[in-house]
Amino acid sequence: MDAMRHIGNPSSVHAEGRAERGVVETARRSIADLAGCPPGAVVFTSGATEANAWVLRARRGMVFASEIEHPSVLENAGNFHTIPVDPNGVVDLGYLAHALERARTTGSDGTADQPLTVTLMAANNETGVMQPVQAAADLCQKHGAWLHVDGVQAAGKYPLEDICASADSLALSGHKIGGPTGVGALILREGRSLTPLIAGGGQEQRRRAGTENVPGIAGFGAAARAAKDEIPLWSGIRDRRDHLEAEMSRLIPDVKIFGVDVDRLPNTTCAAVAGISAELLLMRLDLAGIAISAGSACSSGKVTISPVLNAMGVESALAQGAIRISQGLYTTNAELERFLISWEATVKRKSVSS
Ligand code: PLP
Repeated sequence: MDAMRHIGNPSSVHAEGRAERGVVETARRSIADLAGCPPGAVVFTSGATEANAWVLRARRGMVFASEIEHPSVLENAGNFHTIPVDPNGVVDLGYLAHALERARTTGSDGTADQPLTVTLMAANNETGVMQPVQAAADLCQKHGAWLHVDGVQAAGKYPLEDICASADSLALSGHKIGGPTGVGALILREGRSLTPLIAGGGQEQRRRAGTENVPGIAGFGAAARAAKDEIPLWSGIRDRRDHLEAEMSRLIPDVKIFGVDVDRLPNTTCAAVAGISAELLLMRLDLAGIAISAGSACSSGKVTISPVLNAMGVESALAQGAIRISQGLYTTNAELERFLISWEATVKRKSVSS
């Protein structure tokens, strides 16, 4: 709010401009502190979509992407090679190892020595399932591949230092850690460079042109400071999530909760009941003042099956009912109880009527 009260361009040399520069650099240090990297590694962008697009459009050669990546990765990765996932939604590292070995020795079209890029999310946005980034980094190092990590969902809930130390680039988003929308960052490891996606000015050390979004950046920095302090609190949310899932299974024994056997973000539950559409649940719960989201993407009024659940081999009848329940640090037991009552009533009413 304070940043919005001031005007000035961080590139101007007058006092107002220097004050704005100070705001941007303070935020940069806060984000570097959250990520565990030097401030000079942080390049501000309009969000994680731009950060992902930048890396994938700037890299040439062969790209390997898991099937469960965010559309901002998949739709910017060109003709990528798909890394499959197992039924829990964890990428198949054996497959990746084999594919990298083959690419390095033969190249996809017989030309070895072309640049290799692997793009992998730290945690999935629909299921919360954590991905083996560290092991993927070891493989990338062995085969000389660039590792890009989409750290959007893990940021603020998981320490990022180890990822930052081993990935070549890392995408972050302001609004996923409690900051404003429309701002994010690409963290570029020391010594790594990319042709700018947006050229035209000397901002961000000539890496991303355009006058900086100072209020957005200030908000992102403030959120990063708060998020860093709150990381230890998230492990407590895991017990509450497990309790919620146990209650859902008690009330509706047929419920399927995805990714239960593997490490997940502490606050995310992705669940479905066959025959109960996500759309119906979303609408009924919204009327009850409860905001959840669907595992399936809704575009032009048509609900499509989530590609993430599809990649995990979930049957489409079940995937159509997938909802995502995300808890905040300050979600209360009373709110969870209210969710359980509305969810159970909707599922049971629909089961009786059909
Ligand atoms: N990557 C993941 C995993 C996401 O969940 C999102 C947003 O939903 C993005 C990238 C895109 O981030 P932004 O909204 O900052 O462009």
